[in-house]
Amino acid sequence: MLQISRRNILAGLTASALAGIAPAQTPQSKPQPLDLKDFEPKSMLHVQETLVAKARFPVIDFHTHLSFTNTSGAAPKANFRAKPEEILPSMDRKNLRMMVNLTGGYGPALEENLRYWQTPHPDRFAVFTEPWFSKIVEPNYAQFQADQIVQAKKLGARGIKVLKTLGLYLRDNVTTGNLIKIDDPRFDQMWEAAGASKMPIAIHTSDPEAFFLPIDRFNERFEELNAHPNWSFNGRDYPSNRELHEARLRVIVRHPKTHFVLLHVGNAEDLTWVSEWLDKYQNTSVEIGARIGELGRQPRAARKFFDKYQDRILFGTDAVPQGFETPQQIFGEKLYEIYYRFLETEDEYFDYAPAPVPPQGRWRIYGLGLPDKILRKVYHANAARLLGMKI
Ligand SMILES: [Zn+2]
Repeated sequence: MLQISRRNILAGLTASALAGIAPAQTPQSKPQPLDLKDFEPKSMLHVQETLVAKARFPVIDFHTHLSFTNTSGAAPKANFRAKPEEILPSMDRKNLRMMVNLTGGYGPALEENLRYWQTPHPDRFAVFTEPWFSKIVEPNYAQFQADQIVQAKKLGARGIKVLKTLGLYLRDNVTTGNLIKIDDPRFDQMWEAAGASKMPIAIHTSDPEAFFLPIDRFNERFEELNAHPNWSFNGRDYPSNRELHEARLRVIVRHPKTHFVLLHVGNAEDLTWVSEWLDKYQNTSVEIGARIGELGRQPRAARKFFDKYQDRILFGTDAVPQGFETPQQIFGEKLYEIYYRFLETEDEYFDYAPAPVPPQGRWRIYGLGLPDKILRKVYHANAARLLGMKI
């Protein structure tokens, strides 16, 4: 009976009467096209949003780029991305005790960097040197490079940064010829000199696994790679992600007295594999720069990883002043607030970068809520130890 009466009621309603009770907007009759780039969904979750304006403990940012080296002239020259006085007030507000400028260059550029950042502010900025890769073509490169490390140490450099250039860009004739492998023997004296000089090696090897796959609809970083196709290492003569890491592991084994800080968590998508490295090789640590997007989307595995390796994880952001091409790295107070929120709170489903669309892949992250004991180590104690500072 009830069904019949309902049907009768519906049958009695005219089209105009139905229009009167419909929403003002015409209902969509068929799916509308929407470009992926225009899709900016706002989360409807009502969840805790914590602003961590200041880190709970003083922070050493072990991974920043305050300068790059300009190689276009006769001698390498420092290209500063900011002035110390522009950065220091933000550092104070964020409880950022020190920034390590990894790309401190080599030769005259290194000296410029030391004079600009470290000499006037020894407690706030540390400068690393880099291998002078363009000299690789010279016959005595191995010895030259080792001598450069000893000289850099004398000048005040605190460590050595090795860009992913080694393994992915540096070739026999610098930019042409075969790719030079990470474990090429011409660098052996450099790795040894670093160990003897107690200079940690901050090394970036390979890139996210998606960078080695075709830029297609299955690639989880499609938008990022589609916008920067030159970031892809798919095809040509590039080694695989695995081969690159394996070559670096051979270097680590061969130089047990040298300490290697594996930047970007080594290989952040595969914490099981990184854990094996940390278990096997005591001369390694990892740094988290530009990878909270990866850690924060696997919060339970990441939390266990921080528990287990709490003495070997360093805070870093990969911050670049004016680094607009990579929103997850733009130096600024917002960037630090996101990192602090990730490490200190248990907030759920928030953006890992200060950008309208997650730039490294369309997902959001979950905070780890680390206890004070671990936070202290990750924020500064682990880095301070490597830099030979008082904790
Ligand atoms: Zn970097």
